[in-house]
Amino acid sequence: MPIFNISNNIKEEFHYRYNIPYPIHIYRYAKTVNERRQLLDYMIKFNVLPSLDIIYIETINYCNLACSFCPVGEGQRINKATMSDELFDHILNLIGQITDKSKVTVCMNGHGEPLLDKDIFKRINKLKQFYPQFRTVLFTNTTLIQDRIDELVKSKLDYLMCDFYNEDDKTKCLELFNEYNIAYNKALDYWGNINNRLNVRYSEVYNTDKSFYNNRLGTVNVGPSDVVDEPCIFPFIQLPINVNGGIRYCCIDAMDKTVFDNVLNYNNILELWYSKLYNDIRCNLKDSKLKDTACRQCNNHDYLKFRLIYT
Ligand code: SF4
Repeated sequence: MPIFNISNNIKEEFHYRYNIPYPIHIYRYAKTVNERRQLLDYMIKFNVLPSLDIIYIETINYCNLACSFCPVGEGQRINKATMSDELFDHILNLIGQITDKSKVTVCMNGHGEPLLDKDIFKRINKLKQFYPQFRTVLFTNTTLIQDRIDELVKSKLDYLMCDFYNEDDKTKCLELFNEYNIAYNKALDYWGNINNRLNVRYSEVYNTDKSFYNNRLGTVNVGPSDVVDEPCIFPFIQLPINVNGGIRYCCIDAMDKTVFDNVLNYNNILELWYSKLYNDIRCNLKDSKLKDTACRQCNNHDYLKFRLIYT
């Protein structure tokens, strides 16, 4: 294993699998491009990668806000859609074949506000009823939380991540949580230290350093001006499914610039995860994102800033 200079107190925060930290944990501490390439090569060689850590299920693809750094906001999504029950059931059937479900997080949103989906809690409950071992996560802008609070409290959701886009939303939402005796914490860098059933974390997006943003593959004008010649781990660890079943390379792609396949083409999760199409993409990205036409537009490169919901 390549030796990176990671301090012991950070190492203690890692969650381990097969006696090494989850791939994303160590990847984000490999600071140089060469270290990242070396690490990816190593993990591929020893079958640590590909490793399905997180599945995104986008049940609704539009939003009720219009943030300047996001290409999805109100009025910008042309083909607004909600996932059909048939497609959702097909996805459940596929991911139900995963053998070690306790190692996998299912994020119940993609690019859109999930509380706009009237069936979101019904879907979460169905998934957890069939497969309680998956860890479920939901990210929301909280603007609709007042309307859905009773469903939320009764739901089987494991983690709720509240992204506040202004101070007023934060005040209203935290007052509501106090009223319902729901504990919450400001988001840590990772999702350890479970302290209440709903595991509510929040972030103040309105206070976030602008350097956190990225250009969503060239669809918004934010983030660094340069695209770094570097590898990318995301297609090795993420399975992002859009509202129509399309498979994206990563969670960054809000506007489906990287959709390369569809879950409806598969009845077997292993055939999907190890498909030739998927592996060809990984083969390019293990060397450099400049090898891929879509990724060449992506200015995301600071993995240290990524919140870790993979733990
Ligand atoms: S290079 Fe960017 S667009 Fe391509 S897979 Fe990685 S994060 Fe996604």
